[in-house]
Amino acid sequence: MNRFFILLFCATYIFSCSSSKPVKNANASSIPNSTYWQQHVDYKMEIDMDVDTYQYNGKQTLVYTNNSPDVLNKVFYHLYFNAFQPGSEMDVRSRTIPDPDGRVGDRINKLKPNEIGYIKVNSLKQNGKTLEHKTVGTVLEVELAKPIQPGESVTFSMLFDAQVPIQIRRSGRNNSEGVALSMSQWYPKLAEYDFEGWHTDPYIGREFHGVWGDFDVKLTLDKNYTVGGTGYLQNPNNIGHGYETGALNRSETDKLTWHFIAPNVHDFTWAADPEYIHDTYQVPNGPLLHFLYKSTMPAEKLENWKNLQPKAVKLMQFYSANIGNYPYKQYSIIQGGDGGMEYGMCTLILGEGDFDGLFGVTAHEMAHSWFQFLLATNELTNYWMDEGFTEYFGELAGAHIFNTSFEKPTKQIYDVYNYYVNSGTEQPQTTHADRFNFNRSSSISAYYKGYIFLNQLAYVIGKDNQKETIKAYFDTWSFKHPTPNDFIRVAEKVSGLELDWYLNDWTRTINTIDYAVKTVDNQSFTLERIGLMPMPIDLTVTYTDGSTEDFYIPLQMMRGEKPTSSTIIKDWAWAYPTYTHKTSKAIKSVEIDPTQMMADIDRANNKK
Ligand SMILES: [Zn+2]
Repeated sequence: MNRFFILLFCATYIFSCSSSKPVKNANASSIPNSTYWQQHVDYKMEIDMDVDTYQYNGKQTLVYTNNSPDVLNKVFYHLYFNAFQPGSEMDVRSRTIPDPDGRVGDRINKLKPNEIGYIKVNSLKQNGKTLEHKTVGTVLEVELAKPIQPGESVTFSMLFDAQVPIQIRRSGRNNSEGVALSMSQWYPKLAEYDFEGWHTDPYIGREFHGVWGDFDVKLTLDKNYTVGGTGYLQNPNNIGHGYETGALNRSETDKLTWHFIAPNVHDFTWAADPEYIHDTYQVPNGPLLHFLYKSTMPAEKLENWKNLQPKAVKLMQFYSANIGNYPYKQYSIIQGGDGGMEYGMCTLILGEGDFDGLFGVTAHEMAHSWFQFLLATNELTNYWMDEGFTEYFGELAGAHIFNTSFEKPTKQIYDVYNYYVNSGTEQPQTTHADRFNFNRSSSISAYYKGYIFLNQLAYVIGKDNQKETIKAYFDTWSFKHPTPNDFIRVAEKVSGLELDWYLNDWTRTINTIDYAVKTVDNQSFTLERIGLMPMPIDLTVTYTDGSTEDFYIPLQMMRGEKPTSSTIIKDWAWAYPTYTHKTSKAIKSVEIDPTQMMADIDRANNKK
């Protein structure tokens, strides 16, 4: 999702050189690690939607391959639409958290029976054998007829009925922008089982983790509706609606069946509306972009959507060049009518904002195609990884495309982090996305502190190493489920520096960084570490003769230095609270980290 809403409400609150340096591995390994495995799903679904009652029924055939070393006796599915019922965990949490999301509030509690969401599983079979299953809130618990052995594939066949809720968040019908159907997390979705075991998190309104696989989906609905979403349309000339590649050959029936295939994704999302305009725009040597937005918007909003199209091409090119090549043939930007959220090969976004807002949300959500979609981190436990990295690249891309400052929004983000630290409400970034005391805390932790993690990494290991780390991370971990440790190991291999302390202090604790200039004498200066978190130090000394000299103090526990043109002086071992250095000339002033990339919580003492 995107952080614009939080910007709004925030505004109202408002290291001698080590002798045993590790050998730098110029070609960071493309092997994730020797024990990595991931489960696999192949879905076939046939869905029949009644656009008048918003009810649909589905037939799902799921081939599940157990690549784990474990025997599985149970499986679990997510039934996300069940969250949109009075009394659900999402409803109760939204009414009891001190700072509820204004878009949810008590709206779930007020839904009438014909407005709620549900997925009812009518039958489920494993290799033809009927299974016992129990629906518990948003999770389906399934006892298997026969355990699934390591390496074995089984087929689950399911029949289900469902109702699309009035849109509360992300998914649903008839939202405030009038989009008829925004269909995300709409099907019985097998829960992920990985090295941490089952991930059967109830849906309380935030974040996802899914199984990689292939989807074959047939959607049957009113012929007047235009559909956009995940997957390549297999029968464009039977459909039209802007997808046709030759002469149309449509049946005369009231409904059309759209046949999509999506290879190697971990989610399938779609949206449909009878008033969608459907434009396409080709990225040179890249995917075909699809834009679906309501024709009934005022003229200036429609113009925003036209102006967005060449900019979206530039975004796709920027991310492909700076993270890794976008691997699918298609990406769709769809007016979903609520916030913005990332999905496979597409995004659903708000459509009626001003141009800056429309571009900003597109930049953010498209960057999620890399961070969360291709690099499929578990958003529930590592919310900061996809949101922080996405926000960082969204800002970088915007600054590149419009030739604007990257430092300015970055400074705002550091300021919000400082506000968060001073608020006394900070929780470690390892906190489960649903388990923050405040919505505000979860957002700042994920978007802002996650952003700083990546920006500050360039300070710690050098800008070129940070850039190379991102690309090596993509090469090593795309189409997989990387963890924070996997990311930092790539950074270690690229930089040749030890970085476990950086991941640990920044993400698993609420330790803060505060370094100070303690004293400046004629030809020496003394620095002081006040905060608990270690950092290497860049500093600039201005001499009385007017000249300046940049120094670099390596952090001893990094066992090396970043590439730098500064004068490298002796290491600073973390436990020593002070550090003194003698200079060859008389000193006028000393400043720690003039670039302000280090998230020092008290900058007032950085200069003397
Ligand atoms: Zn996001």
